[in-house]
Amino acid sequence: MSLPNGWEMVIGLEVHTELKTKTKLFCGCANAFGSAPNTQVCPICLGLPGSLPVMNERAVELAMAIGFALNCTIQDSTFHRKNYFYPDMPKDYQISQYDVPINAHGYLTLPDGFRVSIERAHMEEDTGKTTHLGTSGRIHGADRSLVDYNRSGVPLVEIVSGPDIRTSQQARDYVAELRAILIAIGASDGRMEEGSLRVDANVSVRKADAPFGTRCEIKNLNSLRSLQRAIEYEALRQIEVLEDGGKIRQETRHWDEDRGETSTLRVKEEAEDYRYFREPDLVDLAPDQAWRDRVKAGLPRLPAERRGLIESLLGELSDAQRDAVATIVDQGLDEYVLGVADAKGDVSLALARTANEIAANVAGRTNLSVANFVATVAMEQLGQLSATQAKTVLGELLESGGDPAAIAKAKGFEQLSSDTLSVTVGELIEANPDEWQRFKDGDDKLAQFFIGLVMKATKGQANGKAVIAELQSRR
Ligand code: ADP
Ligand code: MG
Ligand code: ZN
Repeated sequence: MSLPNGWEMVIGLEVHTELKTKTKLFCGCANAFGSAPNTQVCPICLGLPGSLPVMNERAVELAMAIGFALNCTIQDSTFHRKNYFYPDMPKDYQISQYDVPINAHGYLTLPDGFRVSIERAHMEEDTGKTTHLGTSGRIHGADRSLVDYNRSGVPLVEIVSGPDIRTSQQARDYVAELRAILIAIGASDGRMEEGSLRVDANVSVRKADAPFGTRCEIKNLNSLRSLQRAIEYEALRQIEVLEDGGKIRQETRHWDEDRGETSTLRVKEEAEDYRYFREPDLVDLAPDQAWRDRVKAGLPRLPAERRGLIESLLGELSDAQRDAVATIVDQGLDEYVLGVADAKGDVSLALARTANEIAANVAGRTNLSVANFVATVAMEQLGQLSATQAKTVLGELLESGGDPAAIAKAKGFEQLSSDTLSVTVGELIEANPDEWQRFKDGDDKLAQFFIGLVMKATKGQANGKAVIAELQSRR
């Protein structure tokens, strides 16, 4: 979307990611989504008096991994209490990193090469979850509100970008790439719909190269689509205000997915004073060099590098193939394509089958070994299976595993023996003497006529190339 009258968007994103640890940040309660409300709680994450936090080692490790993956400086850091009253936070304060975060000054490179700076990526604990009953779905106008503390104390890393993003598409690309990185390094499951990745978008507008305008922050966007829509709506709203001679107030806004609008949540002037002070129950976080080195050395290949590897195997790519590569890297399906490449098979065919058949079947992947995928692609490449038959075999493998050749045989996808093919061709020639004569006289188009007849007679089991060879040998 382009903005009218030379306006430009300025966007900075705050992404909250829940870390994929077994337990919460300061207690031994399970960190798992979807359990019955208030079943994963203890005195610590319920904030009962006298309880003390104990730092989760794995959470620190994942936070450092995020820092390394985002090219940050990893530094000794501290924790603060951010004080405010809200029922989803039983302690009435949130333990968060404030002026000295564990990760600072990094950057993320988008697939097109554009670099977005990362100001910080700090650790904090998640709050509980309130559900407001009633038609509004928000606290205003709710009949009653329910609180679930299972999420309270779940480890979070908040990744704050610089105000470098200039279009809603770039914002979307940034979150998509960040999500892919977080999944790749095992820091997050990346499930936006379950709230394990939540995005706040800071949006302002300006005329090209003018100083930055006043920003508004849109809270809790939980899909790439809403992120993009909300930013576009908000930029146009601000332009309208400014062109009418008005001023933008710095405020926090809510995105209404159904109405496609943002609206004021709270104005910045009335923002609470959080009375930050150092958390007295936690020591400073000072991972030693050996630990930092171990985390860095343990980082897997990042998505950009993995996409580059597969793209280099394909040579010239179409846009659709580029999207397919992004999809399979996002989903961690690289090994299927690389397996076919190792076996000197058709990489482009492998990419198509992986992006279309395997990517669509999340549950079935564990049933499909790389070796069986490679074998199926080879059978298709050799003409032993048609495209449709290959997809059917892959579907069966994804569903329940097994041996591709045996599945093909059981489904009657077997190649005809050359004897059977020869007999069939002979019969069809006898039944169609005129067409055969024209073919013999040099009309190559009639090859297609005979292939059609053979396919019909063999219910599609014949290989087109083999039929042509048989016709030529009798010509
Ligand atoms: P806050 O506590 O107000 O949320 P943060 O420092 O956590 O502040 O985040 C500020 C975010 O706003 C950053 O992502 C930053 O890039 C972005 N930002 C700062 N100034 C602007 C601006 N004028 N327009 C758009 N985004 C901005
Ligand atoms: Mg913020
Ligand atoms: Zn607990």
